[in-house]
Amino acid sequence: MQLYQNQQLKLYNSLSGKKEIFKPLNEGHIGMYVCGPTVYSNVHLGNCRTFMSFDMIFRYFKHLGYKVRYVRNITDAGHLVDDAEDGEDKIAKKARLEQLEPMEVVQRYTVDFHNILQKFNFLPPSIEPTATGHIIEQIEIIKDILEKGYAYEQNGSVYFDVAKFNESYEYGKLSGRKLEDMIANTRELTGQDEKKSPQDFALWKRAEPQHIMRWPSPWGDGFPGWHLECTAMSTKYLGETFDIHGGGMDLKFPHHECEIAQAEASNGHAPVRYWLHANMLTMNGKKMAKSTGNNILPGEIFTGENDILSKAFTPSVVRFFMMQAHYTSILDLSNDALLASEKGYNRLMDALDTLDKLEAGKSSTFDVRSWQQECYDAMNDDFNTPILIAKMFDAVKHINLIKEGNESITAADKSTLKGVLSAFIFDVLGLERKTDVGTGSDKLTAVVELLIQLRKDARDNKDFSTSDKIRDQLSAMGIQLKDGKEGTTFSVS
Ligand SMILES: [Zn+2]
Repeated sequence: MQLYQNQQLKLYNSLSGKKEIFKPLNEGHIGMYVCGPTVYSNVHLGNCRTFMSFDMIFRYFKHLGYKVRYVRNITDAGHLVDDAEDGEDKIAKKARLEQLEPMEVVQRYTVDFHNILQKFNFLPPSIEPTATGHIIEQIEIIKDILEKGYAYEQNGSVYFDVAKFNESYEYGKLSGRKLEDMIANTRELTGQDEKKSPQDFALWKRAEPQHIMRWPSPWGDGFPGWHLECTAMSTKYLGETFDIHGGGMDLKFPHHECEIAQAEASNGHAPVRYWLHANMLTMNGKKMAKSTGNNILPGEIFTGENDILSKAFTPSVVRFFMMQAHYTSILDLSNDALLASEKGYNRLMDALDTLDKLEAGKSSTFDVRSWQQECYDAMNDDFNTPILIAKMFDAVKHINLIKEGNESITAADKSTLKGVLSAFIFDVLGLERKTDVGTGSDKLTAVVELLIQLRKDARDNKDFSTSDKIRDQLSAMGIQLKDGKEGTTFSVS
Protein backbone atom coordinates (compact mmCIF):
# COMPACT_ATOMS: atom_id res chain seq x y z
CA MET A 1 0.00 0.00 0.00
CA GLN A 2 1.46 3.34 -1.04
CA LEU A 3 0.57 6.66 0.56
CA TYR A 4 -0.91 8.04 -2.68
CA GLN A 5 -3.68 5.45 -2.44
CA ASN A 6 -4.99 7.24 0.67
CA GLN A 7 -4.41 10.82 -0.36
CA GLN A 8 -6.48 12.63 -2.93
CA LEU A 9 -4.39 15.29 -4.56
CA LYS A 10 -5.88 18.25 -6.37
CA LEU A 11 -3.85 20.55 -8.53
CA TYR A 12 -4.52 23.74 -10.42
CA ASN A 13 -4.42 22.98 -14.12
CA SER A 14 -3.62 26.12 -16.13
CA LEU A 15 -5.24 24.53 -19.18
CA SER A 16 -8.71 24.27 -17.60
CA GLY A 17 -8.24 27.15 -15.18
CA LYS A 18 -9.52 24.88 -12.40
CA LYS A 19 -8.35 22.75 -9.54
CA GLU A 20 -8.67 19.15 -10.69
CA ILE A 21 -8.29 15.79 -9.01
CA PHE A 22 -4.93 14.43 -10.09
CA LYS A 23 -4.99 11.01 -11.69
CA PRO A 24 -1.84 9.91 -13.47
CA LEU A 25 -2.02 8.19 -16.84
CA ASN A 26 -0.49 5.01 -15.39
CA GLU A 27 -1.28 4.24 -11.79
CA GLY A 28 1.66 4.76 -9.50
CA HIS A 29 3.76 6.46 -12.19
CA ILE A 30 4.16 10.11 -13.06
CA GLY A 31 5.84 11.71 -16.06
CA MET A 32 6.76 15.34 -15.44
CA TYR A 33 8.56 17.78 -17.74
CA VAL A 34 9.80 21.21 -16.64
CA CYS A 35 11.40 23.78 -18.94
CA GLY A 36 14.96 24.22 -17.71
CA PRO A 37 17.36 27.14 -17.90
CA THR A 38 18.99 28.75 -20.91
CA VAL A 39 22.61 28.54 -19.88
CA TYR A 40 24.05 31.83 -21.08
CA SER A 41 24.31 33.62 -17.72
CA ASN A 42 24.25 32.91 -13.98
CA VAL A 43 20.96 31.44 -12.87
CA HIS A 44 18.49 34.09 -11.67
CA LEU A 45 16.97 33.87 -8.23
CA GLY A 46 13.52 34.08 -9.86
CA ASN A 47 14.31 30.99 -11.94
CA CYS A 48 15.55 29.24 -8.79
CA ARG A 49 12.14 29.85 -7.26
CA THR A 50 10.40 28.27 -10.27
CA PHE A 51 12.68 25.23 -10.22
CA MET A 52 12.35 24.99 -6.43
CA SER A 53 8.55 24.87 -6.74
CA PHE A 54 8.87 21.87 -9.04
CA ASP A 55 11.54 20.32 -6.82
CA MET A 56 9.03 20.49 -3.95
CA ILE A 57 6.32 18.96 -6.19
CA PHE A 58 8.74 16.20 -7.30
CA ARG A 59 9.62 15.56 -3.64
CA TYR A 60 5.97 15.35 -2.59
CA PHE A 61 5.15 12.88 -5.38
CA LYS A 62 8.09 10.74 -4.30
CA HIS A 63 7.01 11.00 -0.67
CA LEU A 64 3.55 9.75 -1.67
CA GLY A 65 5.22 6.69 -3.19
CA TYR A 66 4.89 7.53 -6.87
CA LYS A 67 7.58 6.47 -9.29
CA VAL A 68 8.36 9.76 -11.01
CA ARG A 69 10.29 10.34 -14.20
CA TYR A 70 11.17 14.00 -13.94
CA VAL A 71 12.71 15.55 -17.05
CA ARG A 72 14.18 19.06 -16.85
CA ASN A 73 16.06 20.19 -19.93
CA ILE A 74 19.08 22.40 -20.46
CA THR A 75 18.64 24.90 -23.26
CA ASP A 76 22.11 25.09 -24.74
CA ALA A 77 21.27 25.79 -28.37
CA GLY A 78 20.36 29.36 -27.52
CA HIS A 79 17.12 31.15 -28.07
CA LEU A 80 16.74 33.85 -30.60
CA VAL A 81 16.89 37.18 -28.81
CA ASP A 82 13.61 37.88 -30.54
CA ASP A 83 11.73 36.06 -33.22
CA ALA A 84 12.66 38.72 -35.77
CA GLU A 85 14.56 37.93 -38.90
CA ASP A 86 17.90 39.22 -37.61
CA GLY A 87 17.51 37.76 -34.12
CA GLU A 88 20.76 36.59 -32.60
CA ASP A 89 21.18 33.49 -30.57
CA LYS A 90 21.58 34.34 -26.85
CA ILE A 91 24.41 31.87 -26.35
CA ALA A 92 26.19 32.88 -29.56
CA LYS A 93 25.85 36.54 -28.57
CA LYS A 94 27.37 35.90 -25.16
CA ALA A 95 30.13 33.83 -26.79
CA ARG A 96 30.92 36.70 -29.15
CA LEU A 97 30.96 39.26 -26.30
CA GLU A 98 33.14 37.09 -24.06
CA GLN A 99 35.19 35.69 -26.96
CA LEU A 100 34.42 32.13 -26.04
CA GLU A 101 33.43 29.04 -27.90
CA PRO A 102 29.61 28.73 -27.44
CA MET A 103 30.06 25.41 -25.65
CA GLU A 104 32.38 27.14 -23.14
CA VAL A 105 29.52 29.50 -22.30
CA VAL A 106 27.19 26.53 -21.96
CA GLN A 107 29.62 24.62 -19.74
CA ARG A 108 30.37 27.58 -17.48
CA TYR A 109 26.75 28.39 -16.77
CA THR A 110 25.58 24.78 -16.57
CA VAL A 111 28.14 24.27 -13.79
CA ASP A 112 26.93 27.45 -12.06
CA PHE A 113 23.32 26.28 -12.34
CA HIS A 114 24.10 22.90 -10.81
CA ASN A 115 26.19 24.42 -8.01
CA ILE A 116 23.45 26.80 -6.96
CA LEU A 117 20.75 24.12 -7.11
CA GLN A 118 22.90 21.80 -5.04
CA LYS A 119 23.34 24.50 -2.39
CA PHE A 120 19.56 24.83 -2.30
CA ASN A 121 19.36 21.05 -1.75
CA PHE A 122 17.53 20.25 -4.99
CA LEU A 123 17.04 16.64 -5.98
CA PRO A 124 18.51 15.99 -9.41
CA PRO A 125 15.88 15.33 -12.10
CA SER A 126 15.67 11.80 -13.53
CA ILE A 127 16.88 13.02 -16.93
CA GLU A 128 18.47 16.36 -17.80
CA PRO A 129 18.62 16.36 -21.60
CA THR A 130 20.19 19.10 -23.70
CA ALA A 131 18.78 20.75 -26.80
CA THR A 132 22.02 20.24 -28.76
CA GLY A 133 21.90 16.54 -27.93
CA HIS A 134 18.50 16.24 -29.61
CA ILE A 135 18.88 17.97 -32.96
CA ILE A 136 18.03 14.80 -34.90
CA GLU A 137 14.79 14.34 -32.95
CA GLN A 138 13.88 17.97 -33.60
CA ILE A 139 14.51 17.60 -37.34
CA GLU A 140 12.29 14.50 -37.39
CA ILE A 141 9.41 16.43 -35.80
CA ILE A 142 9.79 19.25 -38.35
CA LYS A 143 9.65 16.70 -41.19
CA ASP A 144 6.51 15.25 -39.65
CA ILE A 145 4.79 18.63 -39.24
CA LEU A 146 5.74 19.59 -42.83
CA GLU A 147 4.33 16.32 -44.12
CA LYS A 148 1.06 16.93 -42.27
CA GLY A 149 0.78 20.34 -43.88
CA TYR A 150 1.13 22.56 -40.77
CA ALA A 151 4.46 24.11 -41.71
CA TYR A 152 6.13 25.63 -44.75
CA GLU A 153 9.69 26.13 -45.91
CA GLN A 154 11.02 29.52 -46.89
CA ASN A 155 14.65 30.13 -47.96
CA GLY A 156 16.09 27.37 -45.80
CA SER A 157 13.91 28.15 -42.77
CA VAL A 158 10.77 26.29 -41.73
CA TYR A 159 7.83 28.06 -40.08
CA PHE A 160 4.81 26.73 -38.28
CA ASP A 161 1.59 27.74 -40.04
CA VAL A 162 -0.56 28.93 -37.15
CA ALA A 163 -3.60 29.85 -39.27
CA LYS A 164 -3.61 26.43 -40.94
CA PHE A 165 -3.27 24.73 -37.55
CA ASN A 166 -6.12 26.79 -36.13
CA GLU A 167 -8.49 25.42 -38.79
CA SER A 168 -8.35 21.93 -37.24
CA TYR A 169 -7.10 22.65 -33.72
CA GLU A 170 -7.29 25.54 -31.30
CA TYR A 171 -4.26 27.82 -31.05
CA GLY A 172 -4.20 29.86 -27.82
CA LYS A 173 -6.19 27.57 -25.54
CA LEU A 174 -3.60 27.50 -22.75
CA SER A 175 -3.13 31.26 -22.54
CA GLY A 176 -6.78 32.01 -23.33
CA ARG A 177 -5.93 34.00 -26.47
CA LYS A 178 -7.87 33.94 -29.69
CA LEU A 179 -6.01 33.91 -32.98
CA GLU A 180 -8.38 36.54 -34.46
CA ASP A 181 -7.55 38.94 -31.61
CA MET A 182 -3.83 38.28 -31.98
CA ILE A 183 -4.05 39.08 -35.70
CA ALA A 184 -6.11 42.22 -35.04
CA ASN A 185 -3.59 43.42 -32.44
CA THR A 186 -0.43 42.94 -34.51
CA ARG A 187 0.87 45.74 -36.58
CA GLU A 188 1.69 44.89 -40.17
CA LEU A 189 5.27 43.82 -40.65
CA THR A 190 7.24 45.05 -43.61
CA GLY A 191 7.92 42.76 -46.55
CA GLN A 192 11.25 41.67 -45.02
CA ASP A 193 9.50 38.95 -43.06
CA GLU A 194 9.56 35.50 -44.58
CA LYS A 195 6.64 34.40 -42.48
CA LYS A 196 3.15 34.25 -43.99
CA SER A 197 1.77 35.74 -40.79
CA PRO A 198 3.38 37.38 -37.71
CA GLN A 199 1.88 34.64 -35.52
CA ASP A 200 3.83 31.93 -37.34
CA PHE A 201 6.93 30.79 -35.49
CA ALA A 202 10.22 29.23 -36.57
CA LEU A 203 10.73 25.49 -36.35
CA TRP A 204 14.07 25.74 -38.13
CA LYS A 205 16.15 28.83 -38.90
CA ARG A 206 18.64 29.13 -41.71
CA ALA A 207 22.10 29.93 -40.32
CA GLU A 208 23.77 33.00 -41.75
CA PRO A 209 27.48 32.49 -42.53
CA GLN A 210 28.56 34.19 -39.27
CA HIS A 211 26.27 32.02 -37.13
CA ILE A 212 28.44 29.66 -35.05
CA MET A 213 25.93 27.13 -33.70
CA ARG A 214 24.64 25.31 -36.77
CA TRP A 215 23.65 21.84 -37.91
CA PRO A 216 22.96 20.30 -41.31
CA SER A 217 19.31 19.58 -42.14
CA PRO A 218 17.17 18.73 -45.18
CA TRP A 219 16.63 22.51 -45.52
CA GLY A 220 20.31 23.46 -45.31
CA ASP A 221 22.55 24.47 -42.39
CA GLY A 222 20.65 26.02 -39.53
CA PHE A 223 19.41 25.61 -35.99
CA PRO A 224 16.11 24.68 -34.36
CA GLY A 225 13.51 27.24 -33.31
CA TRP A 226 12.93 28.25 -29.74
CA HIS A 227 9.99 26.02 -28.86
CA LEU A 228 10.87 22.79 -30.58
CA GLU A 229 13.39 21.26 -28.18
CA CYS A 230 10.85 20.83 -25.38
CA THR A 231 8.43 19.03 -27.70
CA ALA A 232 11.25 16.77 -28.92
CA MET A 233 12.63 15.93 -25.48
CA SER A 234 9.32 15.55 -23.64
CA THR A 235 7.99 13.23 -26.36
CA LYS A 236 11.18 11.20 -26.43
CA TYR A 237 11.39 10.59 -22.68
CA LEU A 238 7.76 10.80 -21.53
CA GLY A 239 5.73 9.81 -24.58
CA GLU A 240 3.23 11.59 -26.82
CA THR A 241 0.96 12.17 -23.83
CA PHE A 242 2.30 12.67 -20.34
CA ASP A 243 1.04 13.80 -16.96
CA ILE A 244 2.57 17.12 -15.97
CA HIS A 245 4.29 19.97 -17.76
CA GLY A 246 5.61 22.80 -15.65
CA GLY A 247 7.42 26.07 -16.05
CA GLY A 248 7.38 29.72 -15.12
CA MET A 249 4.21 31.73 -15.72
CA ASP A 250 6.08 33.79 -18.32
CA LEU A 251 6.50 30.70 -20.52
CA LYS A 252 2.76 30.13 -20.94
CA PHE A 253 2.74 32.25 -24.08
CA PRO A 254 4.18 31.81 -26.60
CA HIS A 255 6.49 28.96 -25.51
CA HIS A 256 4.02 26.47 -24.04
CA GLU A 257 1.30 27.42 -26.50
CA CYS A 258 3.71 26.61 -29.34
CA GLU A 259 4.72 23.34 -27.67
CA ILE A 260 1.06 22.29 -27.66
CA ALA A 261 0.64 23.29 -31.31
CA GLN A 262 3.77 21.41 -32.42
CA ALA A 263 2.79 18.23 -30.58
CA GLU A 264 -0.82 18.32 -31.77
CA ALA A 265 0.23 19.00 -35.36
CA SER A 266 2.66 16.11 -35.19
CA ASN A 267 0.74 13.54 -33.12
CA GLY A 268 -2.87 14.60 -33.57
CA HIS A 269 -3.60 14.88 -29.84
CA ALA A 270 -2.81 17.00 -26.79
CA PRO A 271 0.62 16.27 -25.25
CA VAL A 272 0.01 17.26 -21.63
CA ARG A 273 -2.75 16.44 -19.14
CA TYR A 274 -1.91 18.95 -16.39
CA TRP A 275 -0.12 22.25 -17.02
CA LEU A 276 1.40 23.81 -13.88
CA HIS A 277 2.80 27.34 -13.79
CA ALA A 278 4.90 28.84 -11.01
CA ASN A 279 4.70 32.53 -10.27
CA MET A 280 7.48 35.08 -10.17
CA LEU A 281 9.70 36.55 -7.50
CA THR A 282 9.88 40.31 -7.00
CA MET A 283 12.31 42.25 -4.81
CA ASN A 284 11.28 45.16 -2.63
CA GLY A 285 7.97 45.32 -4.49
CA LYS A 286 9.50 45.59 -7.96
CA LYS A 287 10.25 43.23 -10.79
CA MET A 288 13.77 41.80 -10.59
CA ALA A 289 15.88 42.80 -13.58
CA LYS A 290 19.58 43.15 -14.18
CA SER A 291 19.00 46.26 -16.29
CA THR A 292 17.35 48.22 -13.44
CA GLY A 293 19.78 47.01 -10.74
CA ASN A 294 16.88 45.53 -8.77
CA ASN A 295 18.59 42.16 -8.87
CA ILE A 296 20.54 39.79 -6.64
CA LEU A 297 22.23 36.50 -7.47
CA PRO A 298 21.71 33.48 -5.20
CA GLY A 299 25.45 33.30 -4.48
CA GLU A 300 25.44 36.95 -3.32
CA ILE A 301 22.75 36.12 -0.74
CA PHE A 302 24.72 33.16 0.65
CA THR A 303 27.97 35.14 1.01
CA GLY A 304 26.34 38.40 2.05
CA GLU A 305 28.34 40.22 -0.63
CA ASN A 306 25.66 42.62 -1.82
CA ASP A 307 24.29 46.10 -1.11
CA ILE A 308 20.71 44.99 -0.68
CA LEU A 309 20.63 42.75 2.39
CA SER A 310 21.94 43.45 5.89
CA LYS A 311 23.60 40.03 6.26
CA ALA A 312 24.22 36.65 4.64
CA PHE A 313 21.44 34.05 4.62
CA THR A 314 21.93 30.29 4.29
CA PRO A 315 20.38 28.44 1.34
CA SER A 316 17.98 26.67 3.73
CA VAL A 317 16.69 29.98 5.07
CA VAL A 318 16.13 31.24 1.52
CA ARG A 319 14.45 27.95 0.66
CA PHE A 320 12.24 28.23 3.74
CA PHE A 321 11.37 31.80 2.71
CA MET A 322 10.33 30.62 -0.76
CA MET A 323 8.29 27.71 0.61
CA GLN A 324 6.29 30.12 2.78
CA ALA A 325 4.42 31.32 -0.32
CA HIS A 326 2.17 29.25 -2.54
CA TYR A 327 3.93 28.47 -5.81
CA THR A 328 1.22 30.20 -7.87
CA SER A 329 1.47 33.47 -5.86
CA ILE A 330 3.88 36.31 -6.49
CA LEU A 331 6.50 36.38 -3.74
CA ASP A 332 8.37 39.50 -2.69
CA LEU A 333 11.91 39.24 -1.36
CA SER A 334 13.17 41.83 1.10
CA ASN A 335 15.63 42.05 3.96
CA ASP A 336 12.80 42.02 6.53
CA ALA A 337 11.15 39.01 4.91
CA LEU A 338 14.41 37.04 4.99
CA LEU A 339 15.09 38.02 8.62
CA ALA A 340 11.60 36.82 9.56
CA SER A 341 12.15 33.56 7.67
CA GLU A 342 15.45 33.01 9.44
CA LYS A 343 13.73 33.40 12.80
CA GLY A 344 10.99 30.98 11.79
CA TYR A 345 13.48 28.46 10.42
CA ASN A 346 15.52 28.55 13.65
CA ARG A 347 12.39 28.12 15.75
CA LEU A 348 11.45 25.07 13.69
CA MET A 349 14.90 23.51 14.01
CA ASP A 350 15.07 24.26 17.75
CA ALA A 351 11.72 22.53 18.21
CA LEU A 352 13.11 19.39 16.53
CA ASP A 353 15.95 19.35 19.08
CA THR A 354 13.47 19.91 21.90
CA LEU A 355 11.27 17.09 20.64
CA ASP A 356 14.19 14.64 20.86
CA LYS A 357 14.63 15.45 24.54
CA LEU A 358 10.93 15.36 25.54
CA GLU A 359 9.94 12.85 28.17
CA ALA A 360 7.04 10.68 27.11
CA GLY A 361 3.93 10.74 29.29
CA LYS A 362 0.97 8.42 29.90
CA SER A 363 -1.39 10.31 27.59
CA SER A 364 -1.31 12.81 24.72
CA THR A 365 -3.01 16.18 24.86
CA PHE A 366 -2.16 16.75 21.19
CA ASP A 367 -4.06 14.77 18.53
CA VAL A 368 -1.09 13.81 16.37
CA ARG A 369 -3.10 11.66 13.94
CA SER A 370 -5.54 14.37 12.91
CA TRP A 371 -2.74 16.92 12.76
CA GLN A 372 -0.86 14.54 10.42
CA GLN A 373 -3.85 14.34 8.07
CA GLU A 374 -4.14 18.15 8.13
CA CYS A 375 -0.54 18.31 6.89
CA TYR A 376 -1.43 16.02 3.99
CA ASP A 377 -4.63 17.98 3.32
CA ALA A 378 -2.53 21.14 2.91
CA MET A 379 -0.21 19.49 0.41
CA ASN A 380 -3.09 17.74 -1.36
CA ASP A 381 -4.67 21.13 -1.98
CA ASP A 382 -2.41 22.13 -4.91
CA PHE A 383 0.79 21.83 -2.84
CA ASN A 384 -0.16 24.47 -0.30
CA THR A 385 3.21 24.85 1.44
CA PRO A 386 2.25 28.01 3.43
CA ILE A 387 -0.56 26.06 5.12
CA LEU A 388 1.76 23.09 5.63
CA ILE A 389 4.30 25.38 7.33
CA ALA A 390 1.54 26.80 9.55
CA LYS A 391 0.78 23.18 10.56
CA MET A 392 4.47 22.65 11.35
CA PHE A 393 4.28 25.62 13.72
CA ASP A 394 1.15 24.19 15.36
CA ALA A 395 3.34 21.23 16.26
CA VAL A 396 6.12 23.55 17.46
CA LYS A 397 3.63 25.22 19.84
CA HIS A 398 2.65 21.83 21.30
CA ILE A 399 6.27 20.69 21.60
CA ASN A 400 7.08 23.79 23.64
CA LEU A 401 3.99 23.34 25.84
CA ILE A 402 4.96 19.73 26.53
CA LYS A 403 8.49 20.82 27.39
CA GLU A 404 7.11 23.34 29.88
CA GLY A 405 4.96 20.61 31.47
CA ASN A 406 1.65 22.14 30.36
CA GLU A 407 0.87 19.33 27.93
CA SER A 408 1.93 15.73 27.49
CA ILE A 409 2.61 13.18 24.76
CA THR A 410 2.89 9.38 24.71
CA ALA A 411 6.00 7.66 23.42
CA ALA A 412 4.13 6.36 20.37
CA ASP A 413 2.74 9.80 19.49
CA LYS A 414 6.15 11.37 20.01
CA SER A 415 7.65 8.96 17.53
CA THR A 416 4.85 9.61 14.97
CA LEU A 417 5.24 13.35 15.45
CA LYS A 418 8.97 13.14 14.87
CA GLY A 419 8.53 11.01 11.76
CA VAL A 420 5.92 13.30 10.21
CA LEU A 421 7.86 16.48 11.00
CA SER A 422 11.04 15.07 9.45
CA ALA A 423 9.19 13.82 6.40
CA PHE A 424 7.62 17.19 5.66
CA ILE A 425 10.50 19.44 6.71
CA PHE A 426 13.38 17.52 5.15
CA ASP A 427 11.92 15.24 2.48
CA VAL A 428 9.10 17.41 1.12
CA LEU A 429 10.12 21.01 1.82
CA GLY A 430 13.77 20.07 1.23
CA LEU A 431 15.16 22.04 4.18
CA GLU A 432 18.43 21.02 5.82
CA ARG A 433 19.26 21.05 9.52
CA LYS A 434 21.42 23.85 10.84
CA THR A 435 24.26 21.46 11.61
CA ASP A 436 24.14 20.15 8.06
CA VAL A 437 24.86 23.54 6.56
CA GLY A 438 28.44 23.45 5.40
CA THR A 439 28.88 19.78 6.15
CA GLY A 440 27.07 18.47 3.10
CA SER A 441 24.13 16.28 3.85
CA ASP A 442 22.24 14.24 6.43
CA LYS A 443 23.99 11.16 5.13
CA LEU A 444 27.50 12.55 5.56
CA THR A 445 26.65 13.55 9.10
CA ALA A 446 25.34 10.06 9.84
CA VAL A 447 28.45 8.42 8.35
CA VAL A 448 30.88 10.63 10.27
CA GLU A 449 28.94 10.08 13.49
CA LEU A 450 29.23 6.34 12.91
CA LEU A 451 33.00 6.68 12.44
CA ILE A 452 33.21 8.78 15.61
CA GLN A 453 31.45 5.98 17.47
CA LEU A 454 33.77 3.32 16.00
CA ARG A 455 36.78 5.43 16.97
CA LYS A 456 35.47 5.71 20.51
CA ASP A 457 34.95 1.94 20.65
CA ALA A 458 38.54 1.42 19.42
CA ARG A 459 39.90 3.76 22.09
CA ASP A 460 37.85 2.09 24.81
CA ASN A 461 39.52 -1.16 23.70
CA LYS A 462 42.92 0.57 23.70
CA ASP A 463 43.17 -0.06 19.95
CA PHE A 464 44.88 3.28 19.35
CA SER A 465 46.18 2.42 15.89
CA THR A 466 42.57 2.06 14.62
CA SER A 467 41.36 5.17 16.41
CA ASP A 468 44.26 7.24 15.02
CA LYS A 469 43.72 5.83 11.55
CA ILE A 470 40.05 6.96 11.59
CA ARG A 471 41.01 10.45 12.77
CA ASP A 472 43.93 10.86 10.32
CA GLN A 473 42.12 9.56 7.27
CA LEU A 474 39.07 11.74 7.97
CA SER A 475 41.44 14.66 8.36
CA ALA A 476 43.01 13.86 4.99
CA MET A 477 39.51 14.11 3.48
CA GLY A 478 39.03 17.53 5.08
CA ILE A 479 36.89 16.34 8.00
CA GLN A 480 38.32 17.41 11.36
CA LEU A 481 37.34 15.68 14.60
CA LYS A 482 37.38 17.69 17.80
CA ASP A 483 37.34 15.97 21.18
CA GLY A 484 35.62 17.89 23.95
CA LYS A 485 33.91 17.43 27.29
CA GLU A 486 30.57 16.77 25.55
CA GLY A 487 32.05 14.16 23.23
CA THR A 488 33.51 14.40 19.74
CA THR A 489 32.25 16.85 17.15
CA PHE A 490 33.38 17.40 13.59
CA SER A 491 33.79 20.12 11.03
CA VAL A 492 34.24 20.00 7.27
CA SER A 493 36.76 22.25 5.60
ZN1 LIG B 1 10.19 24.48 -22.70
